[in-house]
Amino acid sequence: MSAETTQNAPLLKARGLTKNFTVGKTMLPGSGRVLHAVDAIDLEVYPRETLGLVGESGSGKSTLGRCLTRLYDITSGKLTFDGQDIATAGTVALKPVRRKMQMIFQDPSASLNPRRRVRDMLAEVLTVHRIREGAAVEERLDELMELVGLRREYLDRYPHEFSGGQRQRIGIARALAVEPKLIVADEPVSALDVSVQAQVVNLFGELRDRLNLTYVFIAHDLAVVRHVSTRVAVMYLGSIVETGETDALYARPHHPYTRALLSAIPQPHIRGKRERILLSGEIPSPLSPPSGCKFSTRCPYAKDLCRETRPELATIAPDRQVACHFPLD
Ligand code: SF4
Repeated sequence: MSAETTQNAPLLKARGLTKNFTVGKTMLPGSGRVLHAVDAIDLEVYPRETLGLVGESGSGKSTLGRCLTRLYDITSGKLTFDGQDIATAGTVALKPVRRKMQMIFQDPSASLNPRRRVRDMLAEVLTVHRIREGAAVEERLDELMELVGLRREYLDRYPHEFSGGQRQRIGIARALAVEPKLIVADEPVSALDVSVQAQVVNLFGELRDRLNLTYVFIAHDLAVVRHVSTRVAVMYLGSIVETGETDALYARPHHPYTRALLSAIPQPHIRGKRERILLSGEIPSPLSPPSGCKFSTRCPYAKDLCRETRPELATIAPDRQVACHFPLD
């Protein structure tokens, strides 16, 4: 059975989601080239799941994250969140939606004002959004600090007084302050020391269970994604090439690109020897993606059909979708 029939309706659903950027535009009419950052993506995120979004640098996963939360305007396509069409919603219509979907970034320092204490930053979020008033604000500040595993005394500190891991916890507390349903986390642990990464990744899991949160977790580190995700979507050059339930996808990837990515990391839990697929060349420019299958210039299994016709993302097994003319066993 598909995920849609086994669970509730999707919290977030994208159809044909496309984001283009124009680069090199001058005053001359018709100048500039179109960069296809996110290319007609179909995607669902179900309540209380963690969808891991993986792919090499330049695959478009961060741009997709910003489109899903409407930090970026969308070039075309449909996007619904919690049953509401948000693809073309303007600033006013988006305001209540933004409360329910939050983004967490790699570098929390960039969004923390160095001259303001944690208490003031969090209290401002609560009062601006009218989430708590008066004495209830202080109570909620205590709750938020407890949720992210920080002592309440830290409320009176400034951002520079914290370690990287603690700053990310404050970033998470600020996202939680508005009581969101969905959090899109873009490389939230990749700037942290390895020893701290595991603690913050575990925190994401604990918060999902305690608060019934739904995540889109964007990361290039496949081990981190495996640890935190219930389902995974693999991106290549602006397109999703494979989706599936995490354990099944890691154990048996069907798309050559997924297999190449996974073959590069040690997976001691998988018995038997897995063929290592070495990718040749760099990811092509999204300014001029290859015709047919975008992976055809690097795929060891490419045939003429691959270079002529782009494969659709098709369901090839329960809970598994693959965009490949010749999926691997
Ligand atoms: Fe490789 Fe062809 Fe599949 Fe593309 S469609 S991934 S080129 S086998």
